Amino acid sequence: MSFESLGLLAELIRAVSKQGYTEPTPIQLQAIPFILEGRDIMGGAQTGTGKTAGFVLPLLQRLIKQTLGKGPRPVRALILTPTRELAAQVCESVEIYGKYLPLKSTVIFGGVKINPQIAKLRHGVDILVATPGRLLDHANQKTVDLSQVEILVLDEADRMLDMGFIHDVRKILKLLPKERQNLLFSATLSRDITKLADNLLNSPVMIEVARRNLASENVEQLIHPVDRERKRELLSHLIDSQNWRQVLVFTRTKHGANRLSKQLETDGISAAAIHGNKSQGARTQALSNFKNGSVRVLVATDIAARGLDIDQLPHVVNFELPSVPEDYVHRIGRTGRAGCKGEAMSLVCVDEHKLLRDIELLIKRELPKMVVPGYEPDLSIKPEPIQRARGGGKGHSSGNAKNRHSTSYTRPYSPGSSGKSNSFGKTRGKQSNRRGAAQGQRRGVK
Ligand code: AMP
Repeated sequence: MSFESLGLLAELIRAVSKQGYTEPTPIQLQAIPFILEGRDIMGGAQTGTGKTAGFVLPLLQRLIKQTLGKGPRPVRALILTPTRELAAQVCESVEIYGKYLPLKSTVIFGGVKINPQIAKLRHGVDILVATPGRLLDHANQKTVDLSQVEILVLDEADRMLDMGFIHDVRKILKLLPKERQNLLFSATLSRDITKLADNLLNSPVMIEVARRNLASENVEQLIHPVDRERKRELLSHLIDSQNWRQVLVFTRTKHGANRLSKQLETDGISAAAIHGNKSQGARTQALSNFKNGSVRVLVATDIAARGLDIDQLPHVVNFELPSVPEDYVHRIGRTGRAGCKGEAMSLVCVDEHKLLRDIELLIKRELPKMVVPGYEPDLSIKPEPIQRARGGGKGHSSGNAKNRHSTSYTRPYSPGSSGKSNSFGKTRGKQSNRRGAAQGQRRGVK
């Protein structure tokens, strides 16, 4: 199947060819025709599947088909994302795919000055990518008019709810016209997502693509058992001895990310940390230094890393295993993208055996283990309780973990099936009220 056969405009095909895409990914194949028809979509897909082009390409085509009046243009497509990084990336994709079309787009998120955003909005934009909090700030100041939105996209809706944005999203929905096309993308399904989808979507087409990396052959996964106190030493050893040039390293906490990045610098390995306590400027700078190769190691927490799209990232290291097994899948999904090979290593100490078991249970396979010579674990060391990520103290608590695990899709829904009822299959385990945790994580606590 080619992009041409999906009925996309020549300008869009030219833009994707320029990116080197030769054929649509499964989510693009399934979603594009329905979005072009104007249908609502409930998409089960995570970052790395090509979902952004899956909704951006048809969205651009639908907008260009409508006649454009004179004067400043109203916002006609609104894309909401949970994080600033994802918002910036989605807007970048809109610009890339819309390169040959006369449509205007901009991105707005918090943590940066509001005035330049106001100026851009005043000039008129067709497509607005935004995080919910800053969008509401604009709405309250009447610097954005959402009354002519024709297409709404909720990207990573599950993460949006996890981060406590549901109330903001509800307020935003009230500012939109009732008649519009709605596209909702989520990697997991919770009761809250189902509720949101039921209220939001009109006879949606359900689309799910295989959760890649659960069985991805592109990512080689390996566990290095090691002592708690020797992880940093082993990481430096691996980076040096294998001459890794670009490594994304995950820690559980913001403090841990800062500390590790400083320690790596002391070892002579250039590193930067990226997490929610950093200013937007520092985050953008760290990401750009990492992408351009001037920093070898980017140390990130889970939420900060969500949505990071770094082409052909070769190595991901779990310096600490995530408390939530689902996050392991998200983390290793940073590598092995778009057909490239990737490696995901996890440094696992005695404290983390239970976490490892949970991950293996989720991905339904035992991960290969290899002790690095010279770093054999000391079997006399006793396990200690694991330090949790802070964020209202609940960000990645085991309660939340249980909830998220229980709410992942349990069976694929068939492409093309429609109807308002939800066909994601049953969820396992009890549903806990996530709102408390979510409120704690709200805005900036990442
Ligand atoms: P996404 O899931 O939207 O974050 O996309 C993941 C990565 O896949 C991005 O780097 C895209 O540039 C890339 N990508 C998207 N569509 C295609 C395609 N049809 N062929 C190859 N790469 C693609």
